[in-house]
Amino acid sequence: MKIAVLSGKGGTGKTLVSVNLASVIANSVYLDCDVEEPNGRLFFKPEHPIEEDVNVLIPIVDQERCDGCRACVEFCRFNALAIIKGKVKVYEEICHSCGGCTLVCPQGAIREIPKSIGRIERGVSHGVDVRTGILNVGNESGVPIIKKLLESVDDDQRNVIIDCPPGSSCVVMESIKSADVCVLVAEPTIFGAHNLAMVYELACVFEKPVFAVLNKTLAGENPSKTFCIEKNIEIAIDIPFDEELGRVNSNAGIIVEVDENHRELFMDLYDRIQKGVGHEAATHS
Ligand code: SF4
Ligand code: SF4
Repeated sequence: MKIAVLSGKGGTGKTLVSVNLASVIANSVYLDCDVEEPNGRLFFKPEHPIEEDVNVLIPIVDQERCDGCRACVEFCRFNALAIIKGKVKVYEEICHSCGGCTLVCPQGAIREIPKSIGRIERGVSHGVDVRTGILNVGNESGVPIIKKLLESVDDDQRNVIIDCPPGSSCVVMESIKSADVCVLVAEPTIFGAHNLAMVYELACVFEKPVFAVLNKTLAGENPSKTFCIEKNIEIAIDIPFDEELGRVNSNAGIIVEVDENHRELFMDLYDRIQKGVGHEAATHS
């Protein structure tokens, strides 16, 4: 089963949930798709990780063969090409590596060369197979890295926890495409409920079963809980505000490894997801 963990913004507890959920599931895979700020590895600290470059193809123009016809510039819908002082300039940072300009050039003046945009690190820690996508600073899109991470578990029979980027942009969509279920992490505030609504809508677009995890809960009003009740979203677990949890987490510790109550809480989360997804599958069949 692939479980995508989402939140509308950073700092909500998405990585806390992902790391601890992966830690209570035997023989799991943790995929960090939050490629701009991959923090899960700071908790797992896998030793001697294996690194693999992620490359994309970008166009390079032979200015001697180019006759300035502008066919490539007009074709590129990302505006990654321009003719400046009679020469074609490629803006690599916004090129989406579609390869189209190479095909439309009547002079055969464009070829593609590989460019590194980041890397994937793989290592094992605490019984978890930890795979992390890391986007080089200054690159526009982490989608190719996320694709590669997800392809690496395509045929994997183990449980995979996908720690998604925050928000609801194209990198998040890429991260949840192949997931069996989405876990939405939310804080107990009006902004938290707003962010929850955002990722809930996204999960609905992809027709994924959803569960909510309400983090940092306190006694009193909880707008995120109200939203879940209105939308009939199952609240899988509440994680009450807890100073000890905050201390362990801010020291890059894994709470389920040091506190039995939290271990039981996250095991309960996994049980509810398993049972709930089974129920969903039965409902849709
Ligand atoms: S490869 Fe595609 S996105 Fe990149 S410059 Fe060419 S047409 Fe534009
Ligand atoms: S399509 Fe080819 S020949 Fe025309 S401007 Fe682009 S690189 Fe030059």
